[in-house]
Amino acid sequence: MRHRRLGQTDLELSILGFGASPLGNVFSVVDPAESTRAVHQAIDWGINFFDVSPYYGVTLAEQRLGMALDGKRHEVILTTKCGRYGADDFDFSARTIVAGVDASLARLKTDYVDLLQVHDVEFGDVEQIVTETLPALRGLQQLGKTRYIGITGYSLETLITIAQLAPVDSILSYCRYNLMVQDMDEILTPLAKSKSIGLINASPLHMGVLSPGEIPTWHPAPPEIRAAGHRANEICKSHGLRLTEVALRFCLAHSYVSSTLVGMSTVKELEENLRALDPSEDASVIQEIITAIGSDFNYVWPSGRIDY
Ligand code: NAD
Repeated sequence: MRHRRLGQTDLELSILGFGASPLGNVFSVVDPAESTRAVHQAIDWGINFFDVSPYYGVTLAEQRLGMALDGKRHEVILTTKCGRYGADDFDFSARTIVAGVDASLARLKTDYVDLLQVHDVEFGDVEQIVTETLPALRGLQQLGKTRYIGITGYSLETLITIAQLAPVDSILSYCRYNLMVQDMDEILTPLAKSKSIGLINASPLHMGVLSPGEIPTWHPAPPEIRAAGHRANEICKSHGLRLTEVALRFCLAHSYVSSTLVGMSTVKELEENLRALDPSEDASVIQEIITAIGSDFNYVWPSGRIDY
């Protein structure tokens, strides 16, 4: 497993990271014994970066990850989030953030996280996040409850605006760099590079669109994007390839991203995803997929308080 430093922190992340949202039954109902096995195998096979949030399964993912990591906390780099607690439950006030982190730490069975991230900043007020939320996170850093702080979200514009107004150690962007869409590299990556901010890329499978499985009903992608994912899957099959592996390998090749977070909950998914670390010449099939996606390439759905 290769590792990359996250921006200017001293965190050396495995380039393939374990997205723990599926542990909260976000995509489908998960067997907790199996997801615990997946977490343990991931550590044994070199994955050291685990991402979760109180939002995933309304605390269920944190509870399950905390139990799975019991006794193994020192072997991993652990991040959780704050500010989003349900589908429509946002509170970026310092008071809620501070109380929320203590609850997250209790569920995760630890007294600190390595990275604490403000979750889905486009649903907040930029001024509040800059003047109240991020200072609260810095206060928690002073108290030793987190080693570093970051922001996450879908809206590249909001992430950039905040990163220009307040110092952050990392930015996590999702569904903005994979086989369906690559506009992260147009504006966010240059900003992150210029400020030496760590960059985390989440949802390399476009939250399941680039997988053969069922796409959950809450998924914001319209029917034409789901159909494009289906075409990509058919192309891979015709070449004897697995779409998830091609899609993940594409993301892992990014030269600035420190870690690509893929959501997993079974040993089978983990085994398949680790194969994306093996070199392969996918350029022509990737070109075929992007041609088949056609005008739907770089489609971005509305998200947050403002329609971006
Ligand atoms: P993803 O693109 O990683 O896709 C996850 C889906 O793909 C799940 O249904 C999973 O079961 C399935 N999958 C994974 N490997 C597979 C395989 N080999 N074969 C078939 N299906 C497979 O989307 P994601 O889970 O949303 O993103 C990854 C992680 O990034 C999340 O778990 C979360 O930790 C993080 N994330 C953060 C934010 C945020 O902070 N706003 C947003 C999105 C994701």
